[in-house]
Amino acid sequence: MSIDPEILQAVDRIQVIDTHEHQEEEWQRLTQKIDFYRLFTHYAASDLVTAGLREESLRKLENPEVPIDEKWRLFEPFYLAARNTAYCKAVQIAIRDLYEIEELDRKTYVTLTERMRERNKPGVVSWILRDRCRIRLAQVNALDTGYFRVKTDAELFQQDLSVVDLLRWPSAVESLERHLDVSITSLAAYADAIEKLFAKYGSMADAIKQQSAYFRPQFFADVPDADAERVFNATLKKPKETTPEQERVMTDWAFHRCVRHCIEHDLPIKIHTGYEAGNNDMCLENLNPNLLSNLFRQYPRAKFDIFHIGYPYEAELVAVAKQYANVYVDMCWAWIIDPIASRHFLKRCLTAVPASKIFAFGGDYMYAEPVYGHLRLARHGIARCLSELVEEEFFTRDQAIAVAHRILHDNAAIVFRVDEKQEILRRAQQTKA
Ligand SMILES: [Zn+2]
Repeated sequence: MSIDPEILQAVDRIQVIDTHEHQEEEWQRLTQKIDFYRLFTHYAASDLVTAGLREESLRKLENPEVPIDEKWRLFEPFYLAARNTAYCKAVQIAIRDLYEIEELDRKTYVTLTERMRERNKPGVVSWILRDRCRIRLAQVNALDTGYFRVKTDAELFQQDLSVVDLLRWPSAVESLERHLDVSITSLAAYADAIEKLFAKYGSMADAIKQQSAYFRPQFFADVPDADAERVFNATLKKPKETTPEQERVMTDWAFHRCVRHCIEHDLPIKIHTGYEAGNNDMCLENLNPNLLSNLFRQYPRAKFDIFHIGYPYEAELVAVAKQYANVYVDMCWAWIIDPIASRHFLKRCLTAVPASKIFAFGGDYMYAEPVYGHLRLARHGIARCLSELVEEEFFTRDQAIAVAHRILHDNAAIVFRVDEKQEILRRAQQTKA
C-alpha cells in the first residue's frame, strides 16, 4: 500500500527527542582521522562479519592508519554481500543525503572520504543531528566514561547514569570505591555508596541505563539484606572464589536498590532487552522482557523503559506494555535491526497499547551520520504504519498525525522531564567551565 503524503510530510517535520544514543561529543570526533569505513563501524560491520568478513580484516578496517585503497579491497566483497540489510541501508541513506554520493562503490569511496574530512570541523555534529535529522535532544548512554559523562553539549545531549557496572560482582565494589573515593567493607557501606552515586548524578541524568542482558538473564530476585550480607562478607574476603550463584545474589540485590533510588529521584529505568549487538554470541533466553515482570509488579511507581522492542520477543512486549502502567516501550535501534518487524510492532502497539507509552526513535549509534539514515527509515516506517491505520479506518488522519507527535516527541518530553533536565545540565556545564 502507498503512504499518505500528508502524513509523511507531517511525520518528516516533527522535531524528535531521541531516547537512546551512544554519541561521542564533537570535540572527540574532531581529533580523529576519519574515512569512509567509519560510517560502517557501528553496526553495519556486524553484517559484514555475518557475511564472512574475517576478524583480522575487521581490525585493519578499524585502523585509521591503514590506507583507504587497502581498506576498500578488504571491504568491497562483503559490502556487496550484505548491503541489502537495514544496517547498511541506514549508512547508504546518510551517504546519499549528507555527502551527495548516490552510490558507494570503487569509483566513489575516495570522494566520500574527502567530503567527510572536509566536513569534520566545528559544527559538524549539530549540522547532522539538529539541522539535517531535526533532532531536538538526544539521550546518550556514554560508553567511555563509566557511570556518567559530565562534560557534554547540553544543548543537544542528555546523559544516562549507567549502572551496568553495579551488575558485576565483585568488581562493582572496586569500581564504586575508585569512583567515589570511599572504602566499602560492609553491606551497609555498599548501600551508602550506591546512594551516593545517585545523589551525585541523579538530578543531572535523564534516566538510568543497564544492559546486563548481555551477560545475565533479566530476572532479578528481591534478595533480603541478610542474604546479601552473608554473600557480601564471604565473597569480599575471597573475591576470586565467587560462584555464579553468589554473583547473582549480589547483583539482584544491587539492581533492586537502584530501582528504589530511581523512584526517589524520579528517574526512568532504561533496560536492554532483545537482540544483542556483535556477532557469533547471543543468549536469546536471557533477553525476554517478560523476565522483568516481578519488578513491574513490585514497583508500581517506577518507570521502566524497555529497549529494542524486545526483538524477537515483540509479542511479549506488546502484552507487557498493555498490562503494566509502569512499562514503556522503546523502539531505539529497532528500525535498523528489522524494519518490517518494527513496523508491525508499532502497528500492533497503536491498536493495543496507549500511545502515551511509546517512544518511537533512538538511533543507538556512536557516530552522527548513520543516525540520519536510521531516522529516515523510522519516519518512513511510522508514516506507513499510520497511513495503513487511516486506510483501515482505525484512525482519522488528524488522529494519526497527533499520535506521531506523541511518540516522536511529547511522550519523551514528559516522561524524561527533558526541559527541567536540560536546565540542570546546562548549569552543571557552566559550573565546570
Ligand atoms: Zn545502545
